[in-house]
Amino acid sequence: MNDSKTLGELRASGYRALPVRLELRKNLLARLRRREELFPRILGYEETVIPALENALLAGHDIIFLGERGQAKSRLIRQVVELLDETVPAVAGCEIHDNPFDPICRECRERARADGDRLPVAWIGRQERFGEKLSTPDVTVADLIGEIDPIKIAEGRYLADERAIHYGLIPRSHRGVFAVNELPDLSERVQVSLFNLLEERDVQIKGYKIRLPLDVFVMASANPEDYTSRGRIITPLKDRFQAQIRTHYPKTREIEIQIMDQECAYPPTNGGYQVAVPQFIKEIVSELTFQGRKSPEVNQRSGVSVRLSIANVETLIANAEKRAVRLGEAVAVPRITDLDAVRRSTEGKIEMEYSGEEKAEGELVDKILRRAVKEVFQKYYRLEDLQPVVEAFNGGHVFVVSDHQPSMDYLKAAEFVPDLTRHLAPLALEEGPPWIASGVEFLLEGLFLNQKLFKQGVDHSFHFRGIK
Ligand SMILES: [Zn+2]
Repeated sequence: MNDSKTLGELRASGYRALPVRLELRKNLLARLRRREELFPRILGYEETVIPALENALLAGHDIIFLGERGQAKSRLIRQVVELLDETVPAVAGCEIHDNPFDPICRECRERARADGDRLPVAWIGRQERFGEKLSTPDVTVADLIGEIDPIKIAEGRYLADERAIHYGLIPRSHRGVFAVNELPDLSERVQVSLFNLLEERDVQIKGYKIRLPLDVFVMASANPEDYTSRGRIITPLKDRFQAQIRTHYPKTREIEIQIMDQECAYPPTNGGYQVAVPQFIKEIVSELTFQGRKSPEVNQRSGVSVRLSIANVETLIANAEKRAVRLGEAVAVPRITDLDAVRRSTEGKIEMEYSGEEKAEGELVDKILRRAVKEVFQKYYRLEDLQPVVEAFNGGHVFVVSDHQPSMDYLKAAEFVPDLTRHLAPLALEEGPPWIASGVEFLLEGLFLNQKLFKQGVDHSFHFRGIK
């Protein structure tokens, strides 16, 4: 552990300051050598995004991630920051974390000349070397690059004096990582000054040109359509990103579920009840998102985020929890009737292709939700195997379900449906009434969606009955 406090001590310790690209490279190689997982908690990118990202980092290329919303772009960027050294030495007090061996700001250069080996050194952590900006059209040159500080002018600095500059985010990311999200949303003026700073290594403020040879590793993100549409990004800036990495949504429902399981805030189990989500429910939630991603009525330019799946499973759990608490049940297991809460929470989270009225949006969500339930149902059941269940209803039975009904009530279905337990077996549920309730609702809903049963909403319940 190096604890040098002056340039002299640092020199004596044999410390070598590396440019940021070489530092990232060094640490990446060390982790590869130790066979460590480089990007933990990033699922589904093992064969696509991660290899491309590793190559870009090794090659020292600035990176632009192209992808729709909710594709872990920000998380990838933050994990790259984790590849920086834990701490690096900088000139103490310098706003841009100057390298003590080679300071670039005028003040540090003067201090280095005056102090020599006594130049004080401070150790800077990773997070202090990371700057991030979400682009909007009103981000200014001052935000990113800097501006003339009127206070410093009042103190007697001249305009052309770089000590009169109040540095923006990028100079403050000197010797570190700077990330800009939704790059095409930056105004052209800001893009031009960004390019000048990164490539020409100078800044123009109020007509004065100041040389600032920054060492910054740049990562950006953009929606692919925005990035390719003409005029959204100035060409020289585009050329600056030697690595274009296309992110994507999970390719399978299994990966979507793994992400849901990883990210979902399962409530603590100290409320006197347990929370359990059957596999088929998770499949319905992820299938809803998948259906949204392939629906022509959904705006695919903005995409349907993995966050929708996560929020939906959390909403289902919340609805099931309320029931368990109100009814004093020991296990909260989401059911099909809880999906109504999901339907409402999904509206507004997916953008429709044609901005229609609110009613149309509700109908769309309803439609893709039904499609999702049907799709998952088909995975578990063949209709002909369920004919005995259909017959039982055709014999005149009515069964009532709702999201506030005690789980025990569902056991009554076994009284008239032959072999109910056998029919629930494919769902691999655990034992107990809340599980049976969840399974029975799925069975009935699947039959209804396949036109084998009638379903009628009555007050806040649903009545299932035979068709004949
Ligand atoms: Zn400095």
